[in-house]
Amino acid sequence: MSQLLFKNRRPDHTVLLDEYRQNGGYQGLEKALREMQPAQIRDEVKASGLRGRGGAGFSTGLKWSFFPFDAEGDKYLVCNGDEMEPGTFKDRQLLEADPHQLVEGMALSAYALNINTGYIFLRYAYNQCYTNLLQAIADAKQAGLLGRNILGSEFSFELHVHRSAGRYICGEETALLNGLEGKRPNPRSKPPFPAIKGLFAKPTVLNNIETLANIPHIINGGAQWFSDLALTEEGAGTKLYGLAGHLNNPGCVELPMGITLGELVEEHGGGVWLGRKFKACLPGGASTPYLTADHFDVAMDYNPLEAVKTRLGTGGLVVFDDQTCMVAATLNLMRFFARESCGWCTPCRDGLPMVCWVLEKIESGQGTVDDVTMLKELLGHINGRSFCALALGAMGPVDGLLRLFEEEVLDHVKKGRCPLQKS
Ligand code: NAD
Repeated sequence: MSQLLFKNRRPDHTVLLDEYRQNGGYQGLEKALREMQPAQIRDEVKASGLRGRGGAGFSTGLKWSFFPFDAEGDKYLVCNGDEMEPGTFKDRQLLEADPHQLVEGMALSAYALNINTGYIFLRYAYNQCYTNLLQAIADAKQAGLLGRNILGSEFSFELHVHRSAGRYICGEETALLNGLEGKRPNPRSKPPFPAIKGLFAKPTVLNNIETLANIPHIINGGAQWFSDLALTEEGAGTKLYGLAGHLNNPGCVELPMGITLGELVEEHGGGVWLGRKFKACLPGGASTPYLTADHFDVAMDYNPLEAVKTRLGTGGLVVFDDQTCMVAATLNLMRFFARESCGWCTPCRDGLPMVCWVLEKIESGQGTVDDVTMLKELLGHINGRSFCALALGAMGPVDGLLRLFEEEVLDHVKKGRCPLQKS
């Protein structure tokens, strides 16, 4: 099975510069600077079919094509490393194992986009990643792989690490830019997209850690090879899938894009723990609507998951066993989202606590049929009406709850208690 991003993952140590280079590291950058024009790299990335691994799945090549790489003046490459989606820890695993992939990926991307300054915006809690990145950047600089005139070429690229102050909203790309500028991290309105007006109002490309770490592999192996790694016709590359929740083997695995949900749960996650049955899962982190065992044949890729009304998101699978109350599980997620709202817009600031209040009422056995109706109305009022994607994502599990587990919700009302409660 193809391992690109976890090729160098070792159980006992982080792979640093010498070992990374022994295993073929920085060959992509050397090749690019020696024999490729920036436009060729951009074309290769576009042809590879790589889609953003931060959660939205936007085509990386298309995003890059909006960027005015010929513009005079400052332009920035920013890596979004504020991984805070519950159930998501792939970027942490990547940086703990092999930080140079990101450094090389950023240098390559910067060369392709004619950018000389990059920032990695890192989640506050990621101490080991922070240490690894500082070391990797210092070592790369010492070896002439970062800084002025990289590998004797005309290309210069300075890379900095910024530690986030630590809120979920900082992962929203425009809130992140405000945070990086030292301002309160409220989201900005889009358009203008960061590609045109981003950090310090200058053209900025923002990509996720896993996305950027894929770039050296695309340059080494070629667009067609990368695209062919996926199991689905329209997919591309591999994916770092998280395995969390009620599984026998939790962890993070790299697999071809498009493996089925069933294979992921049974073969790689070791099946549901304690001999229990699979009830539901969040396929790609806390902001993606649930799936059930009826979806075991669905490919874990962007389009197939959208066809069943959910999303690949970050690929962070969270499994719930058959003793889980889905109202309680959803309430738990909603408390997180309500607490993390930046408070800027009304649907998010007031709507999410309202959803929590209704779910609490239903879970405690005090709910009525009208409360279930209100939950449905709140879904309509909040979705598509908030300033950024936080509230929309937050309502993903509520949407799944009402579509797939409405009977369980109504059972709480009928019985006047949680039906899964042992009385
Ligand atoms: P989005 O679809 O609005 O945008 C995706 C990317 O494409 C952005 O970088 C945006 O600037 C760019 N883009 C879109 N249209 C464009 C255009 N016309 N011109 C130029 N650029 C354009 O999604 P989003 O709000 O950035 O992200 C939402 C996703 O974030 C959710 O799907 C969720 O899964 C994910 N998420 C991830 C984490 C995490 O920890 N990794 C946390 C929370 C949410």
